[in-house]
Amino acid sequence: MTVQQEIVDTIKKYDKIIIHRHLRPDPDALGSQVGLAELLRESFPEKEIRQVGETIEGLRFLAEMQEVEDAFYQGALVIVTDTANSPRISDQRYQLAEKLIKIDHHPNDDPYGDLVWVNTKASSCSEMIAEFALMFPELFKMNVEAARLLYAGIVGDTGRFLYPSTTSRTLEIASILRNYPFDASALNREIEQMPMKVAKLSGYLYQNIQVDENGAGRIILPQEILDKYGIDDSETASIVSLPGVIDEVLAWGIFVQQPSGHYRVRLRSKGPVINELAKRHHGGGHPLASGANAKDLAEVEEIYKEIQDICRSYKSRETK
Ligand code: AMP
Repeated sequence: MTVQQEIVDTIKKYDKIIIHRHLRPDPDALGSQVGLAELLRESFPEKEIRQVGETIEGLRFLAEMQEVEDAFYQGALVIVTDTANSPRISDQRYQLAEKLIKIDHHPNDDPYGDLVWVNTKASSCSEMIAEFALMFPELFKMNVEAARLLYAGIVGDTGRFLYPSTTSRTLEIASILRNYPFDASALNREIEQMPMKVAKLSGYLYQNIQVDENGAGRIILPQEILDKYGIDDSETASIVSLPGVIDEVLAWGIFVQQPSGHYRVRLRSKGPVINELAKRHHGGGHPLASGANAKDLAEVEEIYKEIQDICRSYKSRETK
């Protein structure tokens, strides 16, 4: 039996289902989570479906979360989407569930859950949820809201179909979702737009990014710069991809100082694999999009040196 069939059988058995996703959600986290919730509500109106986790102001156009009492978890099924490691699950009460399912597209370093469906080739977890619905057409009923959310997740995680994870299947699925009557351009615009202060910080990024001869880029955003622009960590999401448009840049790190003093590191790449580096510094993620942590500026230097090494050997392999 396939894991997808096992997941369907489990969903059928439970009257209460709570869907979680990762901390600091992005459009794919919310899209896969609430897209699945909407899909289940539409397909099984008799079941009680909930979506939980912290709210991110800038993503309220996608979905709102729900309050769930501890008691609701008794005898419930929890499905976690888009979350590689259990400490990153938003709302740790997932542990109160009777049964746990993981659905994700990150490397399966932490295979938590009674059932685990991981597809690292999928562009996004939202693509997996849409694929899941398409696998069981007699059971699942898509609605406009589910389609809108899943489409948003795919757009978010593929950088609007730019990144190499975008396959012909991604486009087929996006096309099927796009047939539902939601305003896709308005949605794309919402995902793309940034507040003026973040646009100004983008100017700072482009003025101050350091790029070496092999395309290793870095920008450090210390607390005083974040304060100057009136930005907090959660608002840095929309600048992470910006160095990618610079032709000289091959892989880059954005080092965002946290109020506690340490640095959150956001790593991106156009080719060199950066998730092994991320794992060595309390992080992880995809081969071309990862996150890590640096306790101080010395570790920031160390990480940047590793990005430089990775870019150097990638370049030398390319020229051979
Ligand atoms: P971010 O830069 O936070 O958007 O993260 C990019 C990717 O790396 C996401 O897919 C995350 O799941 C993953 N990631 C970020 N931070 C961590 C971490 N501390 N541990 C494991 N994976 C992470």
